Amino acid sequence: MAQDVLCEVFNCVHNINNEKKCGASQIFVVSNRGSQAENSQETDCKTFEPEGL
Ligand code: SF4
Repeated sequence: MAQDVLCEVFNCVHNINNEKKCGASQIFVVSNRGSQAENSQETDCKTFEPEGL
């Protein structure tokens, strides 16, 4: 289990004070290619929520 999730998406409500750390209790990472991916570019964080909405 990941203890610290590093993330550079500063405009996500879960990002901690722009420290490149995720504060969400859990995250959901999805593949853009169904249930499999060949590289990191084909994955995304579905827990992302933009600030200001
Ligand atoms: S929820 Fe996803 S996008 Fe948002 S800070 Fe955490 S890892 Fe980054």
